[in-house]
Amino acid sequence: MEKETVSRNFIEQIIDEDLKEGTYTEVCTRFPPEPNGYLHIGHAKSILLNYGLAKKYNGRFNLRFDDTNPTKERTEFVDSIKRDVAWLGAEWEDRLYFASNYFDRMYEAAVTLIKKGKAFVCDLSADEIRAYRGTLTEPGKDSPWRNRSIEENLDLFERMKNGEFPDGSRVLRAKIDMASPNMNMRDPVIYRVARMSHHNTGDKWCIYPMYDFAHPLEDAFEGVTHSICTLEFEDHRPLYNWVVQEVGFAHPPKQIEFAKLYLTNVVTGKRYIKKLVEDGIVDGWDDPRLVTIAALRRRGYTPESIRTFVELGGVSKANSSTDYAMLEYCIRDDLKQKAPRLMAVLEPLRLVIDNYPAGQTEELCVPNNPENEEAGTRMVPFSGELFIERSDFMEEPPRKYFRLFPGNEVRLMNAYFVKCTGFEKDADGNVTTVHCTYDPESRGGNSPDGRKVKGTIHWVSAPTAGRAECRLYENLVDEEKGVYDEETGAVNLNPNSLTVLKDCVVEPALAKAAAGEKFQFVRNGFFCADEKLSKPGAPVFGRIVSLKSSFKLPG
Ligand code: ATP
Ligand code: MG
Repeated sequence: MEKETVSRNFIEQIIDEDLKEGTYTEVCTRFPPEPNGYLHIGHAKSILLNYGLAKKYNGRFNLRFDDTNPTKERTEFVDSIKRDVAWLGAEWEDRLYFASNYFDRMYEAAVTLIKKGKAFVCDLSADEIRAYRGTLTEPGKDSPWRNRSIEENLDLFERMKNGEFPDGSRVLRAKIDMASPNMNMRDPVIYRVARMSHHNTGDKWCIYPMYDFAHPLEDAFEGVTHSICTLEFEDHRPLYNWVVQEVGFAHPPKQIEFAKLYLTNVVTGKRYIKKLVEDGIVDGWDDPRLVTIAALRRRGYTPESIRTFVELGGVSKANSSTDYAMLEYCIRDDLKQKAPRLMAVLEPLRLVIDNYPAGQTEELCVPNNPENEEAGTRMVPFSGELFIERSDFMEEPPRKYFRLFPGNEVRLMNAYFVKCTGFEKDADGNVTTVHCTYDPESRGGNSPDGRKVKGTIHWVSAPTAGRAECRLYENLVDEEKGVYDEETGAVNLNPNSLTVLKDCVVEPALAKAAAGEKFQFVRNGFFCADEKLSKPGAPVFGRIVSLKSSFKLPG
């Protein structure tokens, strides 16, 4: 059920007004990615915003690949984008489009402009075009080719298409206003000659439309009513409006800009993520330390958590940076109820219960999720030889250390009270085994006589323990230094962003974890069986997020 909220965001207010005034009778939105990389958390915001609006107004949502620039586009990216959009729950149904399927119509639109005297073929070189363009403070100069006749322009444009001219030798330009204060309106290039193979159209075309011409047409062809995009396109809006009006659309789309989502101390730009991938600094586009959708999925984020995150952020006209801790808050909140809570020891230390009957084993009944009774219980094996976390024992404890140390009694979670009686060390002085006695009367971890223990630690029974690799992540970026180096522009990397723990022990149920399964490891955080690294019977768990945070929801 959707909650009735008093305030509508600014985009909804515009749409409400448009429907009321009859500017549009329905709503159609779209997500228009360029298939030149994987989608990231910022794109998730755009996807969920556009899809959410279509849903809310009973309208249509299109997924359209903005594939007009063949140099960087690849089918791999098309496939990954489809997977990610679907995973986020944005359904495009049969409304999957490719800008490249409109190349014929775009060509026709350009011919229409030429026939109206609104476009001309220009023979200036790229450098000359730049020089003629003027600056923000000075108007540009008309191209000497600006007044070619319509017939000549039609002929030359057709010959551009037919491959009669070398790459870069001629362009088609819109004829608008070289003195416009908006640089985008100074006779922008709308078609160029470039012999490039396209992932969809192959070698059919040797001319390609420029983004600023193609993009508004794509929206118009599809009957998109509200073209929602990010702030950097605000200055392009007059040009987009010019294009669709001059080409003759009766109900052109309305562009509305909103602020991009940025995360503090996180690499979000596609360009930068791509560089980390290409330089081999991360293990592909889905490296769990990245914030691509594929990486977040692999890390163990759920679509629900990302939706909550996007909703909490709202839409705004002002650029700002969101705290990564908010994303962590959202996944914790989602998994708290859903993920079963099991025991895994990341850095094992042997614990021997000297008074436990030799050779005896038993099973203890443990709740699967203390916060969710419906999750039921499971039987966990117990014996006289266990593993505990190395950090849960100290030979000489500091003040307020309530875990195991000689003479101290603690609770083994859901099992028994144990009292430390001694320990063994190897030649290097490392503790190898801790000895203790247990109180058989404390079964289930309950005090038999009202005596209290201050510490409760988790454990895994040694004879039945499964082995697993666990990976702990920190921010990829060195938070002290900020994301980018001011001089080189390179990403300031945190050398500790990945810790691989190869000798973790887990209770038997975890050894059978399927790739992608998510758990809470008692006291250690939420973990996901890595879909790329796990093998049947040999799971590799990556930490999604730790349990504690100082993050507070704003407001
Ligand atoms: P990047 O800025 O990471 O290079 P892009 O804008 O080049 O991404 P596109 O494939 O062109 O990537 O983007 C598709 C859509 O996603 C566009 O409508 C764009 O405005 C939107 N988008 C991109 N980045 C963000 C972001 N950080 N927050 C919200 N929307 C975004
Ligand atoms: Mg872009």
